[in-house]
Amino acid sequence: MALDEKLLEIIVCPKCKGDLIYEPEKERLICKNCSVYYPIKDDIPILLIEEAIPIEEKKRYNYSNE
Ligand SMILES: [Zn+2]
Repeated sequence: MALDEKLLEIIVCPKCKGDLIYEPEKERLICKNCSVYYPIKDDIPILLIEEAIPIEEKKRYNYSNE
């Protein structure tokens, strides 16, 4: 199930109030400013600072480039 587009337009990162990037296949919302993502549970984005999960992908890219 996809999130409502109107909802996506109004939700922002609870930390920096910046735009979030929706990744439907991973069910998460990414904040590039904070390098964290917020999980989506039962189509409800969990936009809580304490629920923010650090993004690890960057690290992995660096390793593969070596
Ligand atoms: Zn943020």
